[in-house]
Amino acid sequence: MDAIHARYPFFEAAREAVAAASVSLPELIATDAPAVERARERVERALLEGTVKSESGPFEGGGAGSAYDVRAELLSYPIARILVSLLDSTPAIEKYAAAEAATAVERFRSDLAADDDLRSVSRPTVDLDDVLAEFDLTGAVRPANGSPTTSTVRSTGSTGSTGGSAAFTPGRDRYRMAVGAYLRLTSPSWGPSWRLVNRELSDGEVPLDHDELLEALTVAVEERVREGLPFELEAGEGIAADLESRVDDLKRLLSERSYVDPIDVVAPDLFPPCMTNLIEKTERDVDLTDPESFALMAFLVGIGMTPDEVVAFCADTSLDVEGIRYQTAYLRDDRGTQYPPPTCETLSNYGICHNEENHMQVAADPLTYYEKQVAEADDVTDWREEHDVRVDSETG
Ligand code: SF4
Repeated sequence: MDAIHARYPFFEAAREAVAAASVSLPELIATDAPAVERARERVERALLEGTVKSESGPFEGGGAGSAYDVRAELLSYPIARILVSLLDSTPAIEKYAAAEAATAVERFRSDLAADDDLRSVSRPTVDLDDVLAEFDLTGAVRPANGSPTTSTVRSTGSTGSTGGSAAFTPGRDRYRMAVGAYLRLTSPSWGPSWRLVNRELSDGEVPLDHDELLEALTVAVEERVREGLPFELEAGEGIAADLESRVDDLKRLLSERSYVDPIDVVAPDLFPPCMTNLIEKTERDVDLTDPESFALMAFLVGIGMTPDEVVAFCADTSLDVEGIRYQTAYLRDDRGTQYPPPTCETLSNYGICHNEENHMQVAADPLTYYEKQVAEADDVTDWREEHDVRVDSETG
C-alpha cells in the first residue's frame, strides 16, 4: 500500500492494493482498528464540513513525520463507504461522494501545480495524464494546441511509468474535451457559460480552462465514489452490528446539526468577525482558500440566502459567479442548508477565527452567534430588502 493510494483511495490501483493485501475488513472493524475511527471521522466531516481531510491535519502521504499511517488512511475509505451505507440516506451518500471529490480535486490541483517543480515536492503526486487515464479520459481531453497526452507518471508509487508530461501552468493552459465527455461531466445548471450553446464547439470538442477541467473531474470522482453505494447490509448482523454505535453517533450528530431552519435575515453589520473578515478579504480581491470559501458559503446559505442572493451579495468580490452557484447548490436543499458552517473550533484550526473579544464564549459556531446578535438587536434591516434583491427560495 503506497501513500499515493491513501491520497486517492478511489483509484483502481488503490482498490487493487487493498485486495492484494488480503485485508479482512470485518476483522478490522471487529477489532476497532485505527482505520475504523478514521472512517467515522471521514464520514462525519464529509457530511458536516464538505471535506474528508482529517481534523488533525491533511494526509499528504509525506515521508517521516507524516501524521497518518498510510494503511489506516487507505483502509478508512472502504470502511467509510460501509458506514455511509448504514446511514441509509441517499442525500448522505451524495454529500459523502461530493466531499470525497472536493478533497481529491483539491489534491489534484496541488499536485498539478507542483508539476513544474519536482524538487519542491517530497510527497507522491499524480500528474494530469494519470488522472485522465484513471477516468478513461485520455482520448477525450487534450491541450488546446496539442494532441492527446501520452500516459506519464512520475515516481509516485505504482500507478504507472515515467515520462515527460506536458508542462502545466495553472490558469493559463486550455484544453479541449470531447463533447460526449463534456455533456456527461458538466451541467448547464452551473451557469450560462457551461451551456453548450455558449461554447465554441468545433470538431466535436469543447474548450475548457484549467479550473473548468478540474470541475469536470470533480464529477468524475463523485461518480466513482458513488458507484456501488449503498451496500446491502443486514441491520444488526456482522459488520453492521459491529459498527452500530458509530452509525448511531453519526445519526445523532446529523439530526442535531442538519436541516438547520434558516434564520432568514441578512444583516451584514451583525455578522460574526470571522465572516466579516472573509468578506473583506474578497472585497480586497484576495482569493479565499477552500475552507474559507466553504465556511463563508455555508454561513450565507445558513442564514437563508438563495444562490441568486449570494451571487448578488458577492457581486463586487473575488468570488466568481459559477463557483458561488456550484457551492451554494451543493450546500442547500429544499429544507435549507444541510451543512451548517464549521464550528468556531474548526475555524480557529484553519486560522479563520481569531476569537476576537473572546466571543467563542458566546456560541459554538458562527450561525448561532449571528442568531443571538439578531435576537438582541433592536432594529434589523434586511440587506436584501435594501438592495431589492430578494429572490424566492423556490426560484433561487
Ligand atoms: S468565535 Fe466563532 S463566530 Fe466568533 S469569529 Fe470565531 S468562528 Fe466566528
